[in-house]
Amino acid sequence: MDLKSGYPYFLLKNGLNQNYESLKNNCSTSVVILGGGISGALMAYALIKNGIECIVIDKRPIGFGSTSASTSLLQYEIDTPLHQLSKQIGHQEASQAYTLCSNAIDMLKEIAEEIGFVDFKYCSSLYFSHTKSKNNFLRNEFESRRDAGFDVRYLNEEEILKEFGFHSKEAIFSGKAAKTDAYLFTHFLHKYNRDRGAKIYESTNIKNIRHNKTGIEVTTDKGYVITAQKIIYATGYEAVKQVDRSIVKLKSTYACVSERLDTIPDALKQTIFWNTDDPYLYFREDDQRIIIGGRDENYYDPEKRDKLLHKKTERLKQDFVKLFPGIEFKIQFSWAGTFGSTKDGLPYIGAYDKKPNSYFALGFGGNGITFSALAADMITRHIKGERDCIPKMFSFDR
Ligand SMILES: Cc1cc2nc3c(=O)[nH]c(=O)nc-3n(C[C@H](O)[C@H](O)[C@H](O)COP(=O)(O)OP(=O)(O)OC[C@H]3O[C@@H](n4cnc5c(N)ncnc54)[C@H](O)[C@@H]3O)c2cc1C
Repeated sequence: MDLKSGYPYFLLKNGLNQNYESLKNNCSTSVVILGGGISGALMAYALIKNGIECIVIDKRPIGFGSTSASTSLLQYEIDTPLHQLSKQIGHQEASQAYTLCSNAIDMLKEIAEEIGFVDFKYCSSLYFSHTKSKNNFLRNEFESRRDAGFDVRYLNEEEILKEFGFHSKEAIFSGKAAKTDAYLFTHFLHKYNRDRGAKIYESTNIKNIRHNKTGIEVTTDKGYVITAQKIIYATGYEAVKQVDRSIVKLKSTYACVSERLDTIPDALKQTIFWNTDDPYLYFREDDQRIIIGGRDENYYDPEKRDKLLHKKTERLKQDFVKLFPGIEFKIQFSWAGTFGSTKDGLPYIGAYDKKPNSYFALGFGGNGITFSALAADMITRHIKGERDCIPKMFSFDR
Protein backbone atom coordinates (compact mmCIF):
# COMPACT_ATOMS: atom_id res chain seq x y z
CA MET A 1 0.00 0.00 0.00
CA ASP A 2 1.21 3.51 -0.77
CA LEU A 3 1.10 5.28 2.60
CA LYS A 4 2.84 8.55 1.77
CA SER A 5 4.61 10.59 -0.89
CA GLY A 6 6.49 13.87 -1.24
CA TYR A 7 8.76 15.18 1.50
CA PRO A 8 7.39 14.38 4.97
CA TYR A 9 8.96 16.97 7.24
CA PHE A 10 9.86 14.85 10.28
CA LEU A 11 11.42 12.19 8.09
CA LEU A 12 13.67 14.84 6.51
CA LYS A 13 14.40 16.44 9.85
CA ASN A 14 15.61 13.19 11.45
CA GLY A 15 16.73 11.11 8.49
CA LEU A 16 17.18 7.37 8.81
CA ASN A 17 18.28 7.77 12.42
CA GLN A 18 19.04 4.10 13.09
CA ASN A 19 19.32 1.01 10.95
CA TYR A 20 18.06 -2.43 11.84
CA GLU A 21 18.91 -5.84 10.43
CA SER A 22 16.48 -7.88 8.39
CA LEU A 23 15.54 -11.31 9.78
CA LYS A 24 17.94 -14.01 8.57
CA ASN A 25 17.08 -17.05 10.68
CA ASN A 26 14.18 -18.98 12.19
CA CYS A 27 13.34 -17.94 15.73
CA SER A 28 10.71 -18.10 18.45
CA THR A 29 9.35 -15.62 20.96
CA SER A 30 6.34 -14.96 23.17
CA VAL A 31 4.84 -12.17 21.08
CA VAL A 32 5.52 -11.11 17.52
CA ILE A 33 4.54 -7.54 16.64
CA LEU A 34 3.81 -6.94 12.99
CA GLY A 35 4.62 -3.30 12.22
CA GLY A 36 7.38 -1.09 13.58
CA GLY A 37 5.68 2.33 13.45
CA ILE A 38 4.64 4.27 16.55
CA SER A 39 2.01 1.60 17.40
CA GLY A 40 4.49 -1.28 17.18
CA ALA A 41 7.13 0.67 19.09
CA LEU A 42 4.75 1.55 21.95
CA MET A 43 3.47 -2.03 21.97
CA ALA A 44 7.00 -3.42 22.34
CA TYR A 45 7.75 -0.87 25.07
CA ALA A 46 4.72 -1.97 27.11
CA LEU A 47 5.51 -5.68 26.67
CA ILE A 48 9.18 -5.36 27.57
CA LYS A 49 8.34 -3.25 30.59
CA ASN A 50 6.11 -6.08 31.75
CA GLY A 51 8.76 -8.74 31.20
CA ILE A 52 7.20 -10.19 28.03
CA GLU A 53 9.68 -10.97 25.26
CA CYS A 54 8.83 -9.81 21.76
CA ILE A 55 10.03 -9.46 18.19
CA VAL A 56 9.06 -6.49 16.01
CA ILE A 57 8.94 -7.03 12.24
CA ASP A 58 8.54 -4.40 9.55
CA LYS A 59 8.80 -4.70 5.81
CA ARG A 60 9.78 -1.04 5.46
CA PRO A 61 12.64 0.83 7.13
CA ILE A 62 11.55 1.53 10.71
CA GLY A 63 9.02 4.35 10.93
CA PHE A 64 8.55 4.63 7.15
CA GLY A 65 4.82 3.91 7.23
CA SER A 66 2.24 6.53 8.23
CA THR A 67 4.35 7.40 11.27
CA SER A 68 6.87 9.28 9.13
CA ALA A 69 4.07 11.35 7.56
CA SER A 70 2.46 12.31 10.85
CA THR A 71 2.22 15.94 11.95
CA SER A 72 2.22 14.64 15.55
CA LEU A 73 -0.46 16.70 17.27
CA LEU A 74 -1.64 14.91 20.39
CA GLN A 75 -5.22 15.59 21.37
CA TYR A 76 -7.82 14.01 23.58
CA GLU A 77 -10.45 15.26 21.14
CA ILE A 78 -11.61 12.41 18.93
CA ASP A 79 -12.69 13.04 15.31
CA THR A 80 -16.30 12.62 16.44
CA PRO A 81 -17.19 15.52 18.80
CA LEU A 82 -18.13 14.44 22.32
CA HIS A 83 -21.77 15.51 22.15
CA GLN A 84 -22.24 13.61 18.88
CA LEU A 85 -20.36 10.53 20.08
CA SER A 86 -22.61 10.55 23.16
CA LYS A 87 -25.63 10.26 20.87
CA GLN A 88 -23.96 7.41 18.96
CA ILE A 89 -22.64 5.23 21.79
CA GLY A 90 -24.05 6.72 24.99
CA HIS A 91 -22.81 9.51 27.22
CA GLN A 92 -20.85 7.36 29.67
CA GLU A 93 -18.86 5.53 26.99
CA ALA A 94 -18.23 8.71 25.00
CA SER A 95 -16.89 10.53 28.06
CA GLN A 96 -14.79 7.48 28.89
CA ALA A 97 -13.28 7.51 25.38
CA TYR A 98 -12.36 11.19 25.75
CA THR A 99 -10.94 10.65 29.23
CA LEU A 100 -8.86 7.67 28.07
CA CYS A 101 -7.39 9.81 25.29
CA SER A 102 -6.59 12.56 27.75
CA ASN A 103 -4.84 10.01 29.99
CA ALA A 104 -2.97 8.69 26.95
CA ILE A 105 -1.32 12.11 26.48
CA ASP A 106 0.07 11.85 30.03
CA MET A 107 1.05 8.25 29.40
CA LEU A 108 3.04 9.33 26.35
CA LYS A 109 4.72 12.10 28.34
CA GLU A 110 5.76 9.62 31.04
CA ILE A 111 7.13 7.21 28.44
CA ALA A 112 9.03 10.04 26.72
CA GLU A 113 10.60 11.01 30.04
CA GLU A 114 11.53 7.47 30.90
CA ILE A 115 13.28 6.80 27.60
CA GLY A 116 14.98 10.21 27.51
CA PHE A 117 13.04 11.57 24.54
CA VAL A 118 12.79 15.34 24.90
CA ASP A 119 10.74 16.28 21.85
CA PHE A 120 7.41 16.23 23.65
CA LYS A 121 5.68 19.44 24.71
CA TYR A 122 2.40 19.95 26.49
CA CYS A 123 0.37 22.75 24.90
CA SER A 124 -3.22 23.88 24.55
CA SER A 125 -5.59 23.44 21.62
CA LEU A 126 -8.04 25.74 19.89
CA TYR A 127 -11.01 24.29 18.00
CA PHE A 128 -12.39 27.23 16.01
CA SER A 129 -15.19 28.01 13.61
CA HIS A 130 -15.00 30.68 10.88
CA THR A 131 -18.74 31.20 10.90
CA LYS A 132 -21.23 30.98 13.72
CA SER A 133 -21.70 27.20 13.84
CA LYS A 134 -25.06 25.67 12.91
CA ASN A 135 -27.43 24.51 15.66
CA ASN A 136 -25.11 25.81 18.35
CA PHE A 137 -22.63 23.06 17.45
CA LEU A 138 -19.61 24.56 19.21
CA ARG A 139 -21.57 25.71 22.24
CA ASN A 140 -23.02 22.19 22.67
CA GLU A 141 -19.61 20.64 22.30
CA PHE A 142 -18.16 23.07 24.83
CA GLU A 143 -20.90 22.24 27.35
CA SER A 144 -20.47 18.47 26.87
CA ARG A 145 -16.75 18.68 27.45
CA ARG A 146 -17.05 21.04 30.39
CA ASP A 147 -19.67 18.74 31.99
CA ALA A 148 -17.35 15.76 31.47
CA GLY A 149 -14.73 17.61 33.53
CA PHE A 150 -12.38 18.88 30.82
CA ASP A 151 -10.49 22.14 31.18
CA VAL A 152 -12.22 24.15 28.42
CA ARG A 153 -13.28 27.73 27.74
CA TYR A 154 -15.74 29.03 25.15
CA LEU A 155 -14.31 32.02 23.25
CA ASN A 156 -16.16 34.60 21.18
CA GLU A 157 -14.84 36.55 18.20
CA GLU A 158 -13.30 39.30 20.28
CA GLU A 159 -11.57 36.91 22.66
CA ILE A 160 -10.11 34.87 19.80
CA LEU A 161 -8.69 38.02 18.23
CA LYS A 162 -7.25 39.24 21.51
CA GLU A 163 -5.71 35.93 22.60
CA PHE A 164 -4.72 34.41 19.25
CA GLY A 165 -4.57 37.31 16.79
CA PHE A 166 -6.92 36.04 14.08
CA HIS A 167 -10.55 36.47 13.08
CA SER A 168 -12.94 33.64 13.76
CA LYS A 169 -16.50 33.58 15.08
CA GLU A 170 -16.21 31.20 18.02
CA ALA A 171 -13.89 28.59 19.49
CA ILE A 172 -13.30 26.09 22.26
CA PHE A 173 -10.02 26.55 24.06
CA SER A 174 -8.73 23.39 25.63
CA GLY A 175 -6.04 23.46 28.29
CA LYS A 176 -4.68 20.03 27.45
CA ALA A 177 -2.91 18.83 24.30
CA ALA A 178 0.65 18.12 23.27
CA LYS A 179 2.94 18.05 20.27
CA THR A 180 5.76 15.71 19.49
CA ASP A 181 7.71 14.07 16.66
CA ALA A 182 6.19 10.61 16.21
CA TYR A 183 8.91 9.45 13.84
CA LEU A 184 11.79 10.25 16.19
CA PHE A 185 9.80 9.02 19.19
CA THR A 186 9.44 5.68 17.37
CA HIS A 187 13.20 5.41 16.88
CA PHE A 188 13.90 6.32 20.51
CA LEU A 189 11.41 3.67 21.64
CA HIS A 190 12.93 0.96 19.48
CA LYS A 191 16.42 1.78 20.69
CA TYR A 192 15.28 1.70 24.32
CA ASN A 193 13.39 -1.58 23.77
CA ARG A 194 16.27 -3.18 21.90
CA ASP A 195 18.66 -2.34 24.75
CA ARG A 196 16.24 -4.22 27.02
CA GLY A 197 15.92 -7.37 24.95
CA ALA A 198 13.37 -6.67 22.20
CA LYS A 199 14.41 -7.87 18.75
CA ILE A 200 13.64 -5.47 15.91
CA TYR A 201 13.87 -6.35 12.23
CA GLU A 202 13.17 -4.06 9.30
CA SER A 203 13.00 -4.76 5.54
CA THR A 204 11.38 -8.09 6.47
CA ASN A 205 8.17 -8.79 4.64
CA ILE A 206 5.72 -11.23 6.15
CA LYS A 207 4.08 -13.36 3.52
CA ASN A 208 2.16 -15.91 5.54
CA ILE A 209 0.66 -16.06 9.01
CA ARG A 210 -0.82 -19.25 10.43
CA HIS A 211 -3.09 -18.84 13.41
CA ASN A 212 -3.12 -22.14 15.29
CA LYS A 213 -5.07 -22.91 18.43
CA THR A 214 -1.83 -23.05 20.38
CA GLY A 215 0.11 -20.23 18.75
CA ILE A 216 1.28 -18.48 15.65
CA GLU A 217 3.61 -19.27 12.79
CA VAL A 218 4.83 -16.34 10.72
CA THR A 219 6.80 -16.85 7.49
CA THR A 220 8.85 -14.15 5.80
CA ASP A 221 9.21 -13.78 2.04
CA LYS A 222 12.71 -15.27 2.40
CA GLY A 223 11.24 -18.37 4.02
CA TYR A 224 12.31 -17.78 7.65
CA VAL A 225 9.79 -18.80 10.28
CA ILE A 226 8.97 -17.12 13.59
CA THR A 227 6.92 -19.11 16.08
CA ALA A 228 5.15 -17.23 18.85
CA GLN A 229 2.32 -17.57 21.32
CA LYS A 230 0.62 -14.39 20.12
CA ILE A 231 0.75 -11.93 17.26
CA ILE A 232 -0.10 -8.23 17.48
CA TYR A 233 -1.09 -6.53 14.26
CA ALA A 234 0.26 -2.98 14.49
CA THR A 235 0.03 -2.60 10.74
CA GLY A 236 -1.71 0.78 10.54
CA TYR A 237 -3.88 1.32 7.49
CA GLU A 238 -2.50 -1.83 5.87
CA ALA A 239 -4.62 -3.78 8.33
CA VAL A 240 -7.37 -3.53 5.72
CA LYS A 241 -5.58 -6.50 4.11
CA GLN A 242 -5.73 -8.51 7.34
CA VAL A 243 -9.30 -7.90 8.49
CA ASP A 244 -11.95 -9.23 6.12
CA ARG A 245 -14.57 -6.61 6.88
CA SER A 246 -14.89 -2.93 6.35
CA ILE A 247 -13.58 -1.16 9.44
CA VAL A 248 -12.01 1.99 8.03
CA LYS A 249 -12.73 4.39 5.20
CA LEU A 250 -9.41 5.26 3.58
CA LYS A 251 -8.76 8.85 2.51
CA SER A 252 -5.95 10.99 1.18
CA THR A 253 -4.60 13.89 3.17
CA TYR A 254 -2.07 16.69 2.63
CA ALA A 255 0.42 18.64 4.71
CA CYS A 256 3.12 21.25 4.23
CA VAL A 257 5.66 23.10 6.32
CA SER A 258 6.92 26.66 6.02
CA GLU A 259 10.47 27.89 5.80
CA ARG A 260 11.85 28.79 9.21
CA LEU A 261 10.46 32.11 10.43
CA ASP A 262 12.33 34.72 12.47
CA THR A 263 9.42 35.33 14.77
CA ILE A 264 6.26 33.43 15.53
CA PRO A 265 3.70 34.80 17.99
CA ASP A 266 3.78 32.98 21.35
CA ALA A 267 0.12 32.03 21.06
CA LEU A 268 0.92 30.10 17.90
CA LYS A 269 3.78 28.29 19.57
CA GLN A 270 1.86 27.27 22.64
CA THR A 271 -1.30 26.03 20.97
CA ILE A 272 -2.32 23.59 18.28
CA PHE A 273 -5.20 24.67 16.05
CA TRP A 274 -7.96 22.93 14.15
CA ASN A 275 -11.29 24.05 12.80
CA THR A 276 -14.83 22.77 12.40
CA ASP A 277 -14.69 22.52 8.58
CA ASP A 278 -15.13 19.14 6.97
CA PRO A 279 -12.42 18.18 6.08
CA TYR A 280 -10.79 20.17 8.84
CA LEU A 281 -7.76 22.41 8.64
CA TYR A 282 -5.12 22.11 11.35
CA PHE A 283 -1.80 23.75 12.11
CA ARG A 284 0.94 23.86 14.70
CA GLU A 285 4.44 25.25 15.17
CA ASP A 286 7.66 23.25 15.18
CA ASP A 287 11.16 24.65 15.45
CA GLN A 288 10.23 28.12 14.08
CA ARG A 289 8.16 26.63 11.27
CA ILE A 290 4.43 26.30 10.78
CA ILE A 291 3.05 22.92 9.78
CA ILE A 292 -0.40 22.88 8.15
CA GLY A 293 -2.52 19.88 7.25
CA GLY A 294 -5.92 18.98 5.87
CA ARG A 295 -7.73 19.35 2.53
CA ASP A 296 -8.51 15.61 2.60
CA GLU A 297 -10.01 13.74 -0.35
CA ASN A 298 -12.41 10.88 0.27
CA TYR A 299 -10.52 8.21 -1.63
CA TYR A 300 -7.46 5.99 -1.59
CA ASP A 301 -5.83 6.44 -5.00
CA PRO A 302 -2.15 7.38 -4.68
CA GLU A 303 -1.79 8.47 -8.31
CA LYS A 304 -4.78 10.80 -8.16
CA ARG A 305 -3.71 11.94 -4.68
CA ASP A 306 -0.19 12.86 -5.78
CA LYS A 307 -1.33 14.80 -8.84
CA LEU A 308 -3.11 17.16 -6.47
CA LEU A 309 -0.20 17.66 -4.08
CA HIS A 310 0.89 21.07 -5.38
CA LYS A 311 -2.64 22.45 -5.66
CA LYS A 312 -3.69 21.14 -2.26
CA THR A 313 -0.72 22.48 -0.38
CA GLU A 314 -1.05 25.89 -2.07
CA ARG A 315 -4.63 25.92 -0.78
CA LEU A 316 -3.47 24.97 2.71
CA LYS A 317 -1.06 27.87 2.61
CA GLN A 318 -3.84 30.24 1.51
CA ASP A 319 -6.07 28.94 4.32
CA PHE A 320 -3.38 29.84 6.81
CA VAL A 321 -2.44 33.18 5.28
CA LYS A 322 -6.09 34.26 5.33
CA LEU A 323 -5.99 33.82 9.10
CA PHE A 324 -2.52 35.27 9.63
CA PRO A 325 -1.84 37.74 6.78
CA GLY A 326 1.10 39.16 8.73
CA ILE A 327 3.06 35.89 8.64
CA GLU A 328 5.08 35.26 5.50
CA PHE A 329 4.44 31.60 4.81
CA LYS A 330 6.68 30.10 2.12
CA ILE A 331 6.17 26.38 1.60
CA GLN A 332 9.44 24.51 2.01
CA PHE A 333 8.30 20.87 2.05
CA SER A 334 4.98 19.23 1.29
CA TRP A 335 3.68 15.70 1.39
CA ALA A 336 0.59 13.57 1.06
CA GLY A 337 -0.51 10.55 3.02
CA THR A 338 -3.11 7.87 3.44
CA PHE A 339 -5.46 8.45 6.27
CA GLY A 340 -8.60 6.75 7.49
CA SER A 341 -11.62 7.17 9.65
CA THR A 342 -13.95 4.75 11.39
CA LYS A 343 -17.73 4.99 11.72
CA ASP A 344 -17.48 6.49 15.22
CA GLY A 345 -13.96 7.94 15.27
CA LEU A 346 -12.84 5.19 17.65
CA PRO A 347 -9.95 2.77 17.19
CA TYR A 348 -10.01 -1.02 16.84
CA ILE A 349 -8.15 -2.55 19.75
CA GLY A 350 -8.17 -6.19 20.83
CA ALA A 351 -8.84 -9.67 19.56
CA TYR A 352 -10.46 -10.59 16.26
CA ASP A 353 -12.36 -13.90 16.49
CA LYS A 354 -11.40 -15.13 13.06
CA LYS A 355 -7.70 -14.98 13.90
CA PRO A 356 -6.98 -16.96 17.06
CA ASN A 357 -4.11 -15.79 19.26
CA SER A 358 -4.03 -12.35 17.71
CA TYR A 359 -4.58 -8.79 18.83
CA PHE A 360 -5.03 -5.68 16.73
CA ALA A 361 -3.63 -2.26 17.68
CA LEU A 362 -5.30 -0.02 15.11
CA GLY A 363 -5.40 3.61 16.12
CA PHE A 364 -7.24 5.04 13.15
CA GLY A 365 -8.19 8.70 12.74
CA GLY A 366 -6.84 12.10 13.67
CA ASN A 367 -5.92 10.77 17.11
CA GLY A 368 -3.94 7.80 15.87
CA ILE A 369 -1.02 8.29 18.25
CA THR A 370 -3.00 8.61 21.47
CA PHE A 371 -5.00 5.54 20.41
CA SER A 372 -1.72 3.67 19.83
CA ALA A 373 -0.68 4.43 23.42
CA LEU A 374 -4.01 3.09 24.70
CA ALA A 375 -3.73 -0.03 22.54
CA ALA A 376 -0.25 -0.82 23.87
CA ASP A 377 -1.35 -0.49 27.47
CA MET A 378 -4.64 -2.39 27.11
CA ILE A 379 -3.32 -5.29 25.02
CA THR A 380 -0.39 -5.82 27.38
CA ARG A 381 -2.74 -5.94 30.36
CA HIS A 382 -4.94 -8.41 28.51
CA ILE A 383 -1.98 -10.66 27.68
CA LYS A 384 -1.07 -10.59 31.37
CA GLY A 385 -4.48 -12.01 32.18
CA GLU A 386 -6.46 -8.91 33.11
CA ARG A 387 -10.02 -9.17 31.78
CA ASP A 388 -12.31 -6.25 30.88
CA CYS A 389 -9.32 -3.97 30.33
CA ILE A 390 -10.30 -3.27 26.69
CA PRO A 391 -13.59 -1.36 26.47
CA LYS A 392 -16.24 -2.91 24.24
CA MET A 393 -16.48 0.37 22.29
CA PHE A 394 -13.00 -0.35 20.82
CA SER A 395 -13.77 -3.96 19.86
CA PHE A 396 -14.50 -5.45 16.43
CA ASP A 397 -17.99 -6.49 17.49
CA ARG A 398 -19.09 -3.15 18.88
C1 LIG B 1 -0.32 13.45 6.90
C2 LIG B 1 -0.70 12.77 8.18
C3 LIG B 1 -0.80 13.52 9.34
C4 LIG B 1 -1.12 12.89 10.55
N1 LIG B 1 -1.16 13.66 11.68
C5 LIG B 1 -1.46 13.07 12.86
C6 LIG B 1 -1.46 13.84 14.05
O1 LIG B 1 -1.21 15.05 14.03
N2 LIG B 1 -1.74 13.21 15.22
C7 LIG B 1 -2.03 11.86 15.28
O2 LIG B 1 -2.28 11.34 16.38
N3 LIG B 1 -2.03 11.12 14.16
C8 LIG B 1 -1.75 11.68 12.96
N4 LIG B 1 -1.73 10.93 11.84
C9 LIG B 1 -2.00 9.50 11.96
C10 LIG B 1 -0.78 8.79 12.51
O3 LIG B 1 0.33 9.14 11.74
C11 LIG B 1 -1.03 7.30 12.48
O4 LIG B 1 -2.14 7.00 13.28
C12 LIG B 1 0.16 6.54 13.04
O5 LIG B 1 1.36 6.93 12.45
C13 LIG B 1 -0.07 5.08 12.81
O6 LIG B 1 1.05 4.39 13.28
P1 LIG B 1 1.13 2.85 13.08
O7 LIG B 1 2.39 2.41 13.71
O8 LIG B 1 -0.14 2.23 13.53
O9 LIG B 1 1.16 2.66 11.50
P2 LIG B 1 2.45 2.79 10.47
O10 LIG B 1 3.32 3.88 10.91
O11 LIG B 1 1.87 2.81 9.13
O12 LIG B 1 3.18 1.43 10.78
C14 LIG B 1 2.67 0.19 10.36
C15 LIG B 1 3.84 -0.62 9.83
O13 LIG B 1 3.40 -1.95 9.53
C16 LIG B 1 4.22 -2.42 8.51
N5 LIG B 1 3.59 -3.60 7.86
C17 LIG B 1 2.34 -3.67 7.36
N6 LIG B 1 2.13 -4.89 6.83
C18 LIG B 1 3.27 -5.60 6.99
C19 LIG B 1 3.71 -6.93 6.63
N7 LIG B 1 2.92 -7.80 5.97
N8 LIG B 1 4.96 -7.31 6.94
C20 LIG B 1 5.80 -6.47 7.60
N9 LIG B 1 5.44 -5.20 7.97
C21 LIG B 1 4.22 -4.78 7.67
C22 LIG B 1 4.36 -1.23 7.57
O14 LIG B 1 5.51 -1.34 6.77
C23 LIG B 1 4.38 -0.05 8.51
O15 LIG B 1 5.67 0.48 8.72
C24 LIG B 1 -1.40 11.50 10.59
C25 LIG B 1 -1.30 10.74 9.43
C26 LIG B 1 -0.95 11.37 8.22
C27 LIG B 1 -0.83 10.52 6.99
